[in-house]
Amino acid sequence: MKISDIVEAKPYSVSFEVFPPKTEDAREGVTKAAREIAALHPAFMSVTYGAGGGTSEYTAEIAHDLQEHCGVPMMAHLTCITSTHEHIREQLDLLKSKGVENILALRGDIPEGFELREQNYHHAIELVRDIKAYAPEFCIAGACYPDTHPDAPSQKEDIRHLKEKVDAGMDFLITQMFFDNPVFYSYMYKLREAGITVPVHPGIMPIVNAKQMKRTLKLSGTTLPERFRRILDTFGETPEAMRQAGIAYATDQIIDLFANGIRSVHVYSMNVPSVAKAIMENVSQIIS
Ligand code: FAD
Repeated sequence: MKISDIVEAKPYSVSFEVFPPKTEDAREGVTKAAREIAALHPAFMSVTYGAGGGTSEYTAEIAHDLQEHCGVPMMAHLTCITSTHEHIREQLDLLKSKGVENILALRGDIPEGFELREQNYHHAIELVRDIKAYAPEFCIAGACYPDTHPDAPSQKEDIRHLKEKVDAGMDFLITQMFFDNPVFYSYMYKLREAGITVPVHPGIMPIVNAKQMKRTLKLSGTTLPERFRRILDTFGETPEAMRQAGIAYATDQIIDLFANGIRSVHVYSMNVPSVAKAIMENVSQIIS
């Protein structure tokens, strides 16, 4: 099923991102965790592709498994920066054969030392155009950045390119994680002003340990509001307290978003079922 239709039919919805195993050894554990998250009945789930230097070969497989065994509509992430056009077409054929109808079309981060001259793709928009030309039946989502993409010279430029990307055929957008809802609301205003009218699903990351926070911020370029910095400073060294505070903070963000007109949030589950479960319980009466 197309995610845009599924989400449109619900008053409020929560979805989860999971990542595939990096090695064969980790496969069983990841499948088990992802299935536990799927058992919480999110509106849909997404599976990352090669993020953080990991392998991409399990993405379609995990997506297929969750869709078949747990009945959760799935979206597969697909990056293009290091791919050839032929490889992308193979991936599209693979996803089709696995019954996956939704793709998050991404450029991907440029790997260190990657030879730029050899690029087949430069930006996600080229991937969107290829998908539209080769397999127009896919529902296509894209990424956007309330705190501005780290490579962009300005937010204005970033939004200008986002408009072109959406116009190439995107059905909806998912944001990079953010921790300050007013930053997101201001961003939404600018997107609408720029003529970007597709639904935007805020990406929420429950931060449950301080180490994870540092790594995450470094990779994403996301800013940290003072309010959350104080929570980290106070509870960061006490794992159980940090976990509770991180879940409460993410829940607070989600409820505030729902109360301000947003109907669907995408939660970065980090493959931790207990965190996903706590979030679902905290909003159970809202999304029921
Ligand atoms: P683009 O849309 O191409 O934008 C990248 C940069 O190029 C931006 O600065 C933009 O302003 C600029 N730009 C765009 N078009 C043009 C143009 N025509 N001319 C000049 N500049 C332009 N990474 C993974 O490896 N695997 C994943 O599974 C994954 N999942 C993600 C999920 C989400 C929700 C998000 C937000 C990110 C994810 N990422 C993932 C990270 C993502 O790949 C990186 O943020 C990457 O650097 C940018 O990808 P993009 O699709 O946003 O790129």
